[in-house]
Amino acid sequence: MITTKLNIHDKLPLTCSRTGTCCHGKQVLLNPWELACLAREKKLTPREFRDLYCEFGGIRLRFDGEIGWKGQQACSQYVDKFGCSVHLGRPLSCRLYPLGRQIQSGEVHYMYQGNDFPCLEGCPEVSALPHLSVDECLKDQMVGEFEKAQDEYLELMQNLADIAFMLLLDTGLAESGDKKTLRLWRVMGNEPPEVLAERIGQEWIDCLMLPEISDDLENSVSFAQKHHDLLQLKAQEKFGALQTNQELHEASVLIMGVALHLSRGIGADPKSLAEHWIDTAKENGAQE
Ligand code: SF4
Ligand code: SF4
Repeated sequence: MITTKLNIHDKLPLTCSRTGTCCHGKQVLLNPWELACLAREKKLTPREFRDLYCEFGGIRLRFDGEIGWKGQQACSQYVDKFGCSVHLGRPLSCRLYPLGRQIQSGEVHYMYQGNDFPCLEGCPEVSALPHLSVDECLKDQMVGEFEKAQDEYLELMQNLADIAFMLLLDTGLAESGDKKTLRLWRVMGNEPPEVLAERIGQEWIDCLMLPEISDDLENSVSFAQKHHDLLQLKAQEKFGALQTNQELHEASVLIMGVALHLSRGIGADPKSLAEHWIDTAKENGAQE
């Protein structure tokens, strides 16, 4: 698929006609702060919201609503003739649509898929609406706090992977000739989300997606940092006194699984991340 890269000042038909065509047949991924924001908007606890409206432990919104545009099912939050029922708490991917966001070498890029502007297919009327620049659209959609959350969770994901590295490389496990750990990192990178969620288990899925943080959610960075501290504490409690290589192997696989599951929720590709992390571990003496 061709990607059209954008300059922040490019003008596009970015005034949404709000017909909700893009609330059908899409994948809306969530980080834990976004899940908490959606729950607040729906006046539910994050757990209630997750159990009612999400898949794979909370990293994706269910699209099990009525059949609509192009015969596709609507998002679980879409209400016919009304629109998004959680508009103020909608996640980053909904705010950005049809744009995508990527960070390469520390720089943020925006783009859309294909040569033609995606909205024109389902909402051709947008071409007659005011054309906004990419940065005007980002301001209009109030993406700021949501982008900060995404970046903070990207860092948290890397820190979880670092625990998996430490358990493999700094404990004598890799030196013992272990080959099973990297093999399983690779398997997990290729696993469908429901299988990976099952492997991680409910306890860690809940720690990942339903952190007990009493903040008012206005500051996504503070939320993600507190979440980071909770996960580090849990890892310390669970992995601090491991004795055998089998225990170290299992712990390294588990926490890498959590990092890969989170990676999917923030829109990264678990397969290429797993490959990258396996290569790094091999460069540091681990074997597969
Ligand atoms: S396809 Fe574009 S214009 Fe139509 S509802 Fe979605 S974002 Fe708005
Ligand atoms: S959360 Fe709202 S804006 Fe996003 S896909 Fe669902 S209904 Fe549409």
